[in-house]
Amino acid sequence: MDWEYANIVEDFQSGVAAPDSHDNSYHIVISDGEILCIDGQYPWRPLNQDEWRWCGLEPLSSHYLGRIGDAPIFAEEVDPDAEEPDGYEFETLWGFLTTVDQPVFDLIGRAKQLVDWHQHHHFCGACGGVTSTEPTDRSRKCESCDLSFYPRLAPSIIVLVYRGEELLLAKNANTQADFYSTLAGFVEPGESIEETVHREVFEEVGVKIKNLKYFNSQSWPFPNSLMLGFFAEYDSGEINIQEEEIADAQWFHYKDLPNNPAMMSISGWLIDDHIKRMG
Ligand SMILES: [Zn+2]
Repeated sequence: MDWEYANIVEDFQSGVAAPDSHDNSYHIVISDGEILCIDGQYPWRPLNQDEWRWCGLEPLSSHYLGRIGDAPIFAEEVDPDAEEPDGYEFETLWGFLTTVDQPVFDLIGRAKQLVDWHQHHHFCGACGGVTSTEPTDRSRKCESCDLSFYPRLAPSIIVLVYRGEELLLAKNANTQADFYSTLAGFVEPGESIEETVHREVFEEVGVKIKNLKYFNSQSWPFPNSLMLGFFAEYDSGEINIQEEEIADAQWFHYKDLPNNPAMMSISGWLIDDHIKRMG
C-alpha cells in the first residue's frame, strides 16, 4: 500500500513477527532519539524499501512494528554518530507534534519508544544476563534467568477541574514554558486511576473534587507516558499549591483564559472541549 493513500487508523495493524517476504516496506529511522526526514518531503513519511536500502545507514537494531496494508513497517535504530545521508536530516520528536496528523505522530512515538526500550534492556536488571527478543510477543527475555521485560509505559492522569464557569489551571514549576495547563501526575502502584486523580489534585492544589468523568487518552512519548484525561467538578477547599511542582494555580473564567497548551496535547483538548460545552 502506498503511504500517501494509507489511512493509518484503519490500515495499520500492530504485530511482532515480520513476514518472510514482501514487495515493499516502510522504515522509521531513529538515531539518538531523533527521526530521519526526507528533505523537502512534507508532510513527513517513512523511508520506503528502496530509500532505506540506498540511504547508506546501517541498522544497529531493527524492530517490526506491524504492517500498513500489506507493507511491513520497521523502526530502525542507527548509530548515534552516523552522518545524515545526503537529502535527509534528523529531527527531534517534538518537531513532529505540529507537523503530522495524530495517528502518524503516534506511530512515530511507538517506533521511538520501542527503540528506547530495546536500548535500555540489553541486559537483565536482576542478574545482568543478556536479553533477547521473544518471537511471539513484545518482550525481551533474560537468557540466564528467564525474566521477561515488556516495553515500559507510565500511566498518568490529566484532569480539568471546573467550578461553575471557572477552570482551575496551573503553571508548572519545572518547565520554562509560560502557560497555564490542567493538572497531571503519575499513577502510583496500588492505585486506581480515579484515586490518582483525587490524590494528585489534592497534593498539587489542595482542593477536593467530585463527579469525575473520563474524557479520552493520549500516548505521550516524552518519554513513555499514557495520559488518561478526566473532567472533575470542584467540591471543597482553598487553593494551596505544592511549591515543588506548581508555580501558580488560579481559577479562570472560561471566557478569560491565560495562555494555554496547544491543541496537539490532551490538555488542550480538555480545555477546548469544556469551553465548547460552556459556550
Ligand atoms: Zn536475568
